[in-house]
Amino acid sequence: MKLIELIKEFRETRKWNNNSEASLVKSIVIESAELLEHFQFQEKEYDKELVCNELADILIYCHALCIKLDVTPEEIVSNKLIDVARRYPVVKD
Ligand SMILES: [Mg+2]
Repeated sequence: MKLIELIKEFRETRKWNNNSEASLVKSIVIESAELLEHFQFQEKEYDKELVCNELADILIYCHALCIKLDVTPEEIVSNKLIDVARRYPVVKD
């Protein structure tokens, strides 16, 4: 099962699939702040498990927003990479 389908089923079975787009965007930012908190006072030492836990929260909300927008992470990331590659072509030595 693809990750987005797993997240969709997980949220649907708990009736957590009624969040608005705005609510999901806020959650992405809140979870991003929680991730940043691990680097608040120092930049080199961090607990990888705790950092990955916050990263997972962010990814789950990003996938939930993709579901709400009826897009897939694959299509929007691929489109973005195509756009960035067009703007920043590889410079050959
Ligand atoms: Mg969190």
